[in-house]
Amino acid sequence: MIVIMKTYTPSTEIETLIQEFRSWGLTPETIESNNKVVIGLVGDTAAINLEQVQQLSPFIEQVLRVKNPFKRASLEFRNGEYSEVVVPTPNGDVTFGKSHPLVIVAGPCSVENEEMIVETAQLVKATGAQFIRGGAYKPRSSPYAFQGHGESALHLLAKAREATGLGIITEVMDTSDLVMVAEIADVVQIGARNMQNFSLLKKAGATGKPILLKRGLSATIEEWLMAAEYILASGNPNVILCERGIRSFDKQYTRNTLDLSVVPVLRNLTHLPIMIDPSHATGYSEYVPTMTKAAIASGTDSLMIEVHPNPKKALSDGPQSLTPEQFVELMQEIAPLAEYFGRGKLPLATTRAKKSSAALITA
Ligand code: PEP
Ligand code: MN
Repeated sequence: MIVIMKTYTPSTEIETLIQEFRSWGLTPETIESNNKVVIGLVGDTAAINLEQVQQLSPFIEQVLRVKNPFKRASLEFRNGEYSEVVVPTPNGDVTFGKSHPLVIVAGPCSVENEEMIVETAQLVKATGAQFIRGGAYKPRSSPYAFQGHGESALHLLAKAREATGLGIITEVMDTSDLVMVAEIADVVQIGARNMQNFSLLKKAGATGKPILLKRGLSATIEEWLMAAEYILASGNPNVILCERGIRSFDKQYTRNTLDLSVVPVLRNLTHLPIMIDPSHATGYSEYVPTMTKAAIASGTDSLMIEVHPNPKKALSDGPQSLTPEQFVELMQEIAPLAEYFGRGKLPLATTRAKKSSAALITA
């Protein structure tokens, strides 16, 4: 249930109402939306009728029920106002949100060594990215595949940040690594395979760090938003949703099916910012540019793209990783598109980026 207050309602009136709702066993949360205070009520509101609430104060403009099972994540809960996730980075604050410039997250699947992560970070920074990505802890289908370098890779990511000022996005797989990951990461990623690991969601939420929540392999939209609800319910409002392709029937020619229709659907359902990951969605670098462009046209707020100095030798996800040169080319191609769709001017790749992209490809 949400209670929309009239403009210029005295704050003492709002405080009195909040106390009243608490005495009813509800958890009230206030947000400001379009110059109005909206009180969101979480808890069992089924037995409460709307008039009963309306009569509490002449300053109440409207009382509405939130029909969806995801309450805090729903667009209604914020009275139709989309939220922003602001992430401080050494290069300045980066804002994810519907009315903000496109945010670019790029980097290798895994952090392999210091040289590759620092050089890739330099390359993607010179090409216009705001975040370096790279896994220290890798969820692999096979226990015999490279599992990530763990804690030492987190320190290498920190070095890449020091060298470039980029923010870091990296995945946490296990609650036992959470403190360490949250200490170093600027955004903590919860991967597709952990989307419904509810104890991880609660604990990751409680770190207070912005959380990137990837869609589960076969998760419905409602399951995904309920997973986001766990993080929001832990008191952390900074959640970004990442579509990374869903399990479909074709495994032969594409790794997953990129559900781009989810972007307009999410816009109707939730206020949370959206990211699209065309790399994991397609599984092949040759399809990444097309789906990146389609993702921008669909209205995504941000993109996650895997880039590796030498994809053929990558320890994970080589086939879907762009070479530095391909990444530079893609960023140049999407700049006018981002502008056309009202997503600001992407910084064009510098000459340095072009040169270093060629130099980065090692034999
Ligand atoms: C990743 O980002 O490297 C990753 C493993 O992603 P996902 O959880 O989407 O498979
Ligand atoms: Mn990967």
